[in-house]
Amino acid sequence: MRKRLLSLLLAVVMTVLLAVPVNADTTDDGYTGFATRLYTVVLGRDPDPSGLYDWSNRLRTRQISFADCARGFLFSPEFVSKNVNDAEYVSVLYRTFLDREPDGDGLSYWTGRLASGSVNRSSIVEGFSNSSEFAELCRHYSGTPASGNGITVCIDPGHSGVVASGYVPLGPGSSDMKLADTSGTRGRFSGVAEYVLTMQIADQLRAELEARGYNVIMTRYDNSTPVDCVTRAQIGNEGADIMVRLHFDGLDNSSVSGAHAIVIAQDNPWNPQTYAGSARLGRCIIDSYCSATGIRNRGVFEQNNMTGNNWSTIPCVLLEMGFMTNQYDDLYMTDPENQPAMVNGIANGIDAYFAS
Ligand SMILES: [Zn+2]
Repeated sequence: MRKRLLSLLLAVVMTVLLAVPVNADTTDDGYTGFATRLYTVVLGRDPDPSGLYDWSNRLRTRQISFADCARGFLFSPEFVSKNVNDAEYVSVLYRTFLDREPDGDGLSYWTGRLASGSVNRSSIVEGFSNSSEFAELCRHYSGTPASGNGITVCIDPGHSGVVASGYVPLGPGSSDMKLADTSGTRGRFSGVAEYVLTMQIADQLRAELEARGYNVIMTRYDNSTPVDCVTRAQIGNEGADIMVRLHFDGLDNSSVSGAHAIVIAQDNPWNPQTYAGSARLGRCIIDSYCSATGIRNRGVFEQNNMTGNNWSTIPCVLLEMGFMTNQYDDLYMTDPENQPAMVNGIANGIDAYFAS
């Protein structure tokens, strides 16, 4: 009798499951909401299904940032061919990035600057997309975690198997251009590529942080996606409380060993408000990482030449976990037996940062 009841129950469950179309979900999330909004606000029309799927999927898989998506609409032939005047253009930017109509002062300020030629349309787009109001809007669409400890960590696994090409500004609005990304170093003794090892540690760190109650996003999830350093920062800015960038070092001199953290300097021209948090986060992580692994502690370096750090509007640390050109460090870090200690060290440092 119990058996018959069970099989009946199973049949009912199966019927319900089969009645739900398999591909019905994933289209109704914040990423779709964000892209749908751009069709309305920028293009003034309903989305076409294939375009909407494409934009929201690229957002969801972090191939592009929310700012990239907005730029894609604003610089699309469809919008450009509308030939809107400056006032209308500024209004579209307010709606796109700030989710509101322009106030009178803001509108006359921006149209005045456009008319005088002191800014052009693409430079104002950069200004709007780097505003704190836009970051708030992105947080809304990427979804504030409802469960766990309410803290979101962005992990940035350094480099990639496919390197982003071209150049990006060293900081927001900077005329100093740097390579969009680099190929990274390689283990002189292990033969392992840096981008492979950063991804391995990132995957393990993500699992560890999630087990500790954190919400985790990553700037890349595989070794075949190129990500430039500005996009890496923007992905963190748009949804996370802190940014942890994972790297390994390399030098011609194989006797140099040890780990260090890199944060912006106090006089950073772009995001100095994140200095105090970044410096404290760097200290927490490097001390905890080195005590968990025994890797030599080279401390926290403060410098303004790291593009991804300069673009971060949240506390951001680039962790150089050791030298892949040093025999001891290289063989230690690429040994799967040691990686839990590395990951625990980083996670303990993040715990310490939020506990203090
Ligand atoms: Zn690196």
